[in-house]
Amino acid sequence: MGEGMITEGRKFFDFNLMMIKSLGSVPDGWEIFKWEVLNHDTAHECIQFVGGVGRKITRGKRKGRTTWRGMDQSKKMIFAFTHDQIREYKRKWEAETGMCSSCHGNGTRAIGWSAVDGTRYRPCENCDASGLIPAIIAKDQPQ
Ligand SMILES: [Zn+2]
Repeated sequence: MGEGMITEGRKFFDFNLMMIKSLGSVPDGWEIFKWEVLNHDTAHECIQFVGGVGRKITRGKRKGRTTWRGMDQSKKMIFAFTHDQIREYKRKWEAETGMCSSCHGNGTRAIGWSAVDGTRYRPCENCDASGLIPAIIAKDQPQ
């Protein structure tokens, strides 16, 4: 399942972190702490991810969360991927898992949230709310 987790009954996959880990060079406990779009609106547009191994907070309200204050600078690493590379990674993941990456296999996507009603969802149009790989490949093939 890689970095998959289940929150409130929904599956969630951190594709960016999974993609970085698939390169095999980040140490245990490595997490992304910053991302930004570089070369915006040019042919060289890409997304840059910066991360490292933070410290786990051991007491107080934020116990268990990560703090980046005083992080080990030797484990700080920077990665950049083009949108095509990210799409390609998701396609590979879909082929391996059979799940739709747009809705993380849930069949629905979040469209809003409020304190009163919680999260609102609508059916995923990419997979027809099935949560399974979209049939795009089949459609593209000559009959
Ligand atoms: Zn879907």
